[in-house]
Amino acid sequence: MNNYKTSSNYKGNNPRPQKDKPGPKFSNYEGKFICHKCKSDVPKARYWKDTMDLTWMCDCKYISKVNLNAKGY
Ligand SMILES: [Zn+2]
Repeated sequence: MNNYKTSSNYKGNNPRPQKDKPGPKFSNYEGKFICHKCKSDVPKARYWKDTMDLTWMCDCKYISKVNLNAKGY
């Protein structure tokens, strides 16, 4: 006995949750950031959402990095 109804119209694809949103994984920040190497002012930084890092690159090509993944406050 077979109670299963076969329907060729049914698509068995489950809607998958969106993991990767299109677009950049960082947002730009403007402000005043100090190069960790040569102590110059850098007007722009990038905040990386995945790693919660804030990075900025100076004219001297040094990339300064600060992690904002601090617990609490
Ligand atoms: Zn620098």
